[in-house]
Amino acid sequence: MSETTMTLPGIVITGASGRMGQMLVRTVSASNQARLVACLERPGHAWIGQDVGIAMGGPVLGVTVSDDPLEAFSKAQAVIDFTAPQATVEFAALAAQARAVHVIGTTGLEAAHLARLSAAARHAVIVRAGNMSLGVNLLVQLTRKVAEALDADFDIEVVEAHHRHKVDAPSGTALMLGEAAAAGRGVNLAEVSDSGRDGITGARGRGRIGFAAIRGGDIVGEHDVIFAGEGERIVLRHVATDRTIFARGALRAALWGQDREPGEYSMADVLGL
Ligand code: NAP
Repeated sequence: MSETTMTLPGIVITGASGRMGQMLVRTVSASNQARLVACLERPGHAWIGQDVGIAMGGPVLGVTVSDDPLEAFSKAQAVIDFTAPQATVEFAALAAQARAVHVIGTTGLEAAHLARLSAAARHAVIVRAGNMSLGVNLLVQLTRKVAEALDADFDIEVVEAHHRHKVDAPSGTALMLGEAAAAGRGVNLAEVSDSGRDGITGARGRGRIGFAAIRGGDIVGEHDVIFAGEGERIVLRHVATDRTIFARGALRAALWGQDREPGEYSMADVLGL
């Protein structure tokens, strides 16, 4: 490894065998702005001890998959983590101990998880976003603006579609969009949110923000924010066709987070939106 390469920020990828994990391994190892220093999987996983490139069915990448986060984080400047809520809160405490930037793409985090992330962010930088793409983060801003401009004569519905393996609903992105719509309207999302409608639900309540989820096939991620009024409808839409947009966004966040003050940041901060 050349001296210049050695000075690049070292990145650890958690959940390296996952859909996003593999995409992140490819993105970071191909980058000339960062170097891949470790890949993690949970104890007992078939990939432990193997070169991550070989495990992915490609060329050798020179990084062996490990199940030891503390050792991995101690040699890194950033951790990119798209796993599951319980794993993410544990990684957050260890990343904070190592003072590594923790970029979190994991969705489905609940209030208790978020409280643990806030505790970790007292000591290190956390960048968390339910969606790391530039397009969706722009859509969030647009949603807020449109919600600000229209009153509750326009019903807001967020409709999302994802692949059949997704375990949480509404998606993290749908929730980001719902939060933006609620903020634009000056209301608290928790008080106006309607999701999982089924059966005799009664007429739609004025001012509610509705969510609907479609699951199927290999859909990467699609989100519509619908503002439905009398005689007209505005639809804001983002369609992701390739997971590299999330991996590139996550790497950008990891680089942006270097030398920042400890705290919790979003992709809007990273993108300067
Ligand atoms: P996936 O294919 O199921 O991958 C998840 C990975 O995390 C797997 O390798 C899994 O290992 C690992 N993992 C789960 N629990 C673990 C634990 N306790 N300890 C260590 N490793 C653990 O899922 P995915 O599609 O890549 O998505 C992962 C997360 O990212 C989801 O929350 C998804 O919603 C989110 N996501 C976010 C964005 C964004 O832009 N923010 C974009 C896409 C996806 P096992 O196989 O052993 O369980």
